[in-house]
Amino acid sequence: MTTFITKTADSIKTLRLEKGLTQEELGEEIFVSRQAVSRWENGETMPGVDSLKELSKVFGVTINRLLGEPVKLVCQCCGMELDENSISSEPEGGANPDYCKWCYTDGDFVYKSLPELVEYLVTHVPLGDFTREQAEEFFTARLKELRYWKESE
Ligand SMILES: [Zn+2]
Repeated sequence: MTTFITKTADSIKTLRLEKGLTQEELGEEIFVSRQAVSRWENGETMPGVDSLKELSKVFGVTINRLLGEPVKLVCQCCGMELDENSISSEPEGGANPDYCKWCYTDGDFVYKSLPELVEYLVTHVPLGDFTREQAEEFFTARLKELRYWKESE
């Protein structure tokens, strides 16, 4: 989270200056106060998901670029790709680019154990040619690589 907040602060400031906008003008374009823009640029708060969407429109860049990530972001709990429709939020409104909104809801993690999430995936994701056992093994191995599960070990 700390890294995202710093990178986001830098990219907002850089993109705003490239566009030749003041904090006030940028705020007016995306319907927030100058103070809000200032707090984002100082890395004090993270923009909310709606503001990220507005910012990406104004600057003509992807949400990934705004968050300072050159590669695709994936949820560090379930592994799905994150975009403006799946990114989660903190209870106070700032976006949380580490997790999707289904894994991290209202400031809490939905899945408390790895088997619980694997069970969910196995019953909801099309398995193709995989048997249930193979799918369980596949998901378990993949999820173990993600930060949330690495840290919980
Ligand atoms: Zn997720």
